[in-house]
Amino acid sequence: MTDLQAIVEEIHASLSPRCGEGKVADYIPQLAHVDPQKFGMAVVTVDGETHLAGDADEAFSIQSISKVFTLTLALGKHGEGIWKRVGREPSGSAFNSIVQLEQEAGIPRNPFINAGAIAITDLVLAGHTPKEAIGEVVRFLRYLADEEDIIVDQAVARSEQATGFRNFALANFMRSFGKLDHAAELVLGVYFHQCALAMSCRQLARAGLFLANSGTNPLTGHRVVSHLRARRINALMLTCGHYDGSGDFAYRVGLPGKSGVGGGILAVAPGKASVAVWSPGLNENGNSLLGSLALEMLATRTGWSVFGA
Ligand code: GLU
Repeated sequence: MTDLQAIVEEIHASLSPRCGEGKVADYIPQLAHVDPQKFGMAVVTVDGETHLAGDADEAFSIQSISKVFTLTLALGKHGEGIWKRVGREPSGSAFNSIVQLEQEAGIPRNPFINAGAIAITDLVLAGHTPKEAIGEVVRFLRYLADEEDIIVDQAVARSEQATGFRNFALANFMRSFGKLDHAAELVLGVYFHQCALAMSCRQLARAGLFLANSGTNPLTGHRVVSHLRARRINALMLTCGHYDGSGDFAYRVGLPGKSGVGGGILAVAPGKASVAVWSPGLNENGNSLLGSLALEMLATRTGWSVFGA
């Protein structure tokens, strides 16, 4: 057993008694059915080692973590032109906030709040039918994780489609400013499916590994993005990846990260590893409570931080 495996197991064991703390997201009815006791951790290093603990092989709804991957796709398709549609500033607002959209003429603050992610999905949809775009996102995740066993949980997608009134409002509001090229129904058809992707911690950590290794997946040798682009995506994750809790996450963990309301967090330790954690109970900012603590402990134990060892 390597030291890192021992660290991951110790963190998991020490936090396990707290499983069930926090609040499972219930505004998407299907997500409310998830067992709050689930807790998984996966660390995949740039040297190709994998360290797992707990429910690391169980698929969960990645929700907003998908926004990292659609941003990567949109940048690949449209390059830096995407910044005409979305900003790069932390929002300081909740994930589904509409307030800034009016003040900033339909331009969302960043690609990781809902409005910004919907604007990015609109760009991914360019030249495709919604079905093709969903296929492209799923294939991209399979390519990144180098695993075929990644699917969309259709029940979660339908549940969000039926209740995502706020997201329809955000999309229509942006469209009213001429800042969305497709009808809300089409864009959100794709958006709800990307959020409903079901992946395990292990798959997610593998999919994010290119961000820890200057744009190249060290397991497959595939160059996914340039060095500079990987650095920039990491910068956005650090500053905007945890909604109005982004500053606190940077302070406590010190790594680029992206959370989702399914209770997952993907964190990137540049040059070291990609880490995925999952525990469905959320803190007051809608980020996984135990997941954030686990990452804080991991960063402390390993010395991994973008701010110095
Ligand atoms: N699908 C969710 C929504 O749009 C994603 C939210 C999240 O994970 O933060 O409300």
